Amino acid sequence: MKHEILSVIVPVLNEEESIPLFLEKMRQVSRELPVEVEYWFVNDGSNDNTQAVLNALNNSDSNIHFIDFSRNFGKEAALYAGLEYAKGDYVGVMDVDLQDPPELLPEMLRGVMSGEWDAVGSRRINRIGESRIRSFFSDLFYKLVNKISSTQLVNGARDYRVMTRQMVDAILSMPEYNRFSKGIFSWIGFRTKYLEFENVDRAAGKTSWSFFSLFKYSIDGIVNFSTAPLDIVTGLGFITFISAIIGAIAIIIRAIAFPSTAVFGWPSMVVIMLLLSGIQLLSLGVIGRYISGTYTEVKRRPIFIAKKVK
Ligand code: UDP
Ligand code: MG
Repeated sequence: MKHEILSVIVPVLNEEESIPLFLEKMRQVSRELPVEVEYWFVNDGSNDNTQAVLNALNNSDSNIHFIDFSRNFGKEAALYAGLEYAKGDYVGVMDVDLQDPPELLPEMLRGVMSGEWDAVGSRRINRIGESRIRSFFSDLFYKLVNKISSTQLVNGARDYRVMTRQMVDAILSMPEYNRFSKGIFSWIGFRTKYLEFENVDRAAGKTSWSFFSLFKYSIDGIVNFSTAPLDIVTGLGFITFISAIIGAIAIIIRAIAFPSTAVFGWPSMVVIMLLLSGIQLLSLGVIGRYISGTYTEVKRRPIFIAKKVK
């Protein structure tokens, strides 16, 4: 009989094919582990047979639990729900599509059980199987975020990790609605080690992230952990204000000193107006992002709604 428990949280959205493959692999790996493994599948509003698969598994195996969302709340909400229900001494977070190699689990667990690390995560060192454009923008995102935010993100880091109970409680103490886990993991601190691995393709099914949803997600990442865009906007406003003052003084001086040259430069006027109104609109957009963030936070809506938990 093993005494300690590892809870594995697995968000699933339309993954009827992947779940059996995942469990088969996990059963092989978990035999070698010094802990009992319980599973918390979070059904994030699937519209295939995912829930039927989970019901059957739950009936036949007392270590398999599920949380069934009332609709799709997103992977971040699913992770939060899983963390809230998981009662293990150690908690792991994994994708179901085997892109997070279960073979890393023993080493992750050793790291946290030894007491040397509070979390052992994973990062992929290449992006084989991913489109060039996607990799390019994702590299750009990490560079940008690490420049402007005091919360550092590790490039290529996945959500796949094993954490101590203490770290999970720290994450749960951040009940914010706009969640960006990569930032939260980093913000709470603790000692985290990253194991490196080569990217693997999905075992079955297809990715549910479009380029646009990833773009929105990265904007969330920036807005939630940095106020640098607001500082940039303030700086831009200041610079344009000063140039306007200088320009005005120059025009007055010219009008007095050389009255005959006073009407000149309509095209450049138009360009300047476009430039300034462009900067204004951009700034309003940036400020709007923060205000909408505040708005959704103050409403204090629940992060997820579960129809059934078992
Ligand atoms: N997922 C989810 N809710 C969503 C999108 C994804 O629970 O709204 C789950 C999905 O079932 C999978 C994991 O999150 O277990 C990672 O998703 P995916 O493999 O589509 O992302 P990728 O690996 O392409 O980044
Ligand atoms: Mg995947």
